[in-house]
Amino acid sequence: MSKRNEKKKVKKMKPEDLIERTLVLLKPDAVQRSLIGELISRFEKVGLKIVAMKMVWITPDFSKKHYSAHVNKPFYKSLEAFITAGPVVAMAIEGISAVEVVRKIVGSTEPKTAPAGTIRGDYAHHSYHFTDMKGIAIRNIIHASGTPEEAKQEIKLWFKENEIHSYKTVHDQFVL
Ligand code: GDP
Ligand code: MG
Repeated sequence: MSKRNEKKKVKKMKPEDLIERTLVLLKPDAVQRSLIGELISRFEKVGLKIVAMKMVWITPDFSKKHYSAHVNKPFYKSLEAFITAGPVVAMAIEGISAVEVVRKIVGSTEPKTAPAGTIRGDYAHHSYHFTDMKGIAIRNIIHASGTPEEAKQEIKLWFKENEIHSYKTVHDQFVL
């Protein structure tokens, strides 16, 4: 594509096109540690919009669908045991570049090295070294979609169309 056409393509993009939805799960460790409210408020405070939410105790079959990219990995069995050990709170969260912004708030996968200030860095300290020696999944409080494509698939898996809501928040008045 020529530079000029590329520019035209960029120009055609509307600001609303940057608004994304992402899937967040408060994992069984977060629910059992009574952290639901505290964790949800982190997303609310930055102005992200919760457009769907429910509590679900998933089955091993559903875990295999959600973690389809990981089913053949050595840690999968322990991951399934962890994610099916109790109910999770599932949310679809909407905002500007929501996938990237939510991953920033959540932090990297291993709590030991996740920066302080992120959810995984602030609420846990499990390490790969320890969990691999124990043969358990890394307890990292929360799941968030890794890419916009993953987010679309995951939201479709977790929510029906009529469970996702469009509404205005006061943040919209300042942000949009
Ligand atoms: P995430 O996107 O940051 O949640 O990380 P992944 O998609 O790579 O992995 C999914 C989940 O599997 C993680 O959140 C951890 O709970 C677990 N997990 C990932 N990698 C490992 C690992 O190397 N060892 C163990 N024990 N658990 C892991
Ligand atoms: Mg992932």
